[in-house]
Amino acid sequence: MSHDPNCLFCKIVAGQIPSRKVYEDEQVLAFHDIHPWAPVHVLIIPKLHIASMADLGAEHAGLMGHMSVLAPRLMRELGVTNGFRTVINTGQDGGQEVYHLHMHVMGGPRPWAKG
Ligand code: AMP
Ligand code: ZN
Repeated sequence: MSHDPNCLFCKIVAGQIPSRKVYEDEQVLAFHDIHPWAPVHVLIIPKLHIASMADLGAEHAGLMGHMSVLAPRLMRELGVTNGFRTVINTGQDGGQEVYHLHMHVMGGPRPWAKG
């Protein structure tokens, strides 16, 4: 399934739910997390509906590489100069709440609210 009509992040991709957009291209969307743990907290998501990292196949290697390379670029553009944290929660024991694959990228001066 490339788009799940019941998925929160697919609705954000489709513009049906608003988001504070940071970056967009054909493959991915990045927006500010609604409950930030850190002064800067963005989520990078594929536009394609992939429920979690557990659903990745070899065909997604380029997409995941693209998301990883984008993270430092977005942090730089958002003024994060002293390091950042990347997290991908996967499945129930991984603490995943939204089942559309997303990379948390967090930075800014500590202390942080969480993490
Ligand atoms: P996870 O636990 O990794 O699935 O994280 C889901 C993240 O999505 C949480 O950090 C939420 O704050 C964030 N989130 C949920 N709804 C929205 C939304 N409408 N816009 C932006 N971020 C959201
Ligand atoms: Zn989705």
